[in-house]
Amino acid sequence: MKKIQVITLFPEMFDGVLNASMLWKAQEQKAVEFRMVNLRDFGLGPRKRVDDTPYGGGDGMLLMPEPLFAAVKDAKTYDPTAKVVIMTPRGQRWKQSLAQEWSDSETGYIFICGRYEGYDERILTVVDEQVSVGDYVLTGGELPAMTIIDSIVRLIPGVLGGENSAAIESFSDGETLEFPQYTKPADFKGMKVPEVLLSGNHAQIAKWRENNSAKVEK
Ligand code: SAM
Repeated sequence: MKKIQVITLFPEMFDGVLNASMLWKAQEQKAVEFRMVNLRDFGLGPRKRVDDTPYGGGDGMLLMPEPLFAAVKDAKTYDPTAKVVIMTPRGQRWKQSLAQEWSDSETGYIFICGRYEGYDERILTVVDEQVSVGDYVLTGGELPAMTIIDSIVRLIPGVLGGENSAAIESFSDGETLEFPQYTKPADFKGMKVPEVLLSGNHAQIAKWRENNSAKVEK
């Protein structure tokens, strides 16, 4: 069973996403186990402080090293061989081939969600991977972590059901986007499903789908 842990100040953000649809099913099937590590539990002093101002000046606050290191230590005690991943716009861009690789590997993952203006750089000494979900800035690492977790877990064999579903999806071969799809009715307010898809001719359907699959822009 794959172990996925998340270090976050907002564990409640994950409740709806991890407990619905495929991610819920994956837990039921014991394909994955999620564990939330609340960074606040490792905060300093009576007010459980987790952030402070940056040396050298500048706007905003940074996550302090002490709570972050303690939270990683806690997560590592639970899963000593897990890889530590930090969410950051500076990281390598997430993509389908990485989702497949991380899904296939036996390793567990510990996702650190940054907040405020980010985190004290020294945490990188215990981080294995830095990952970005794209060239834009979000308020915290929680949405990126959820995106990455979803893309990994749905690829664990048995989770999606139809084992071919993932194999024919967009990006699965690194080059092609999925063809357009239609369901009933065949005629919706005059908008008709392409005739070839109703023909039952599998060779022609395959050709049409190939011709209508766009290429990934590199
Ligand atoms: N000051 C940082 C910068 O300019 O790169 C942005 C900090 S952002 C407001 C707070 C946190 O959200 C980051 O530390 C990171 O964990 C997460 N985050 C924001 N955008 C992200 C992205 N595109 N990919 C991954 N994580 C992101």
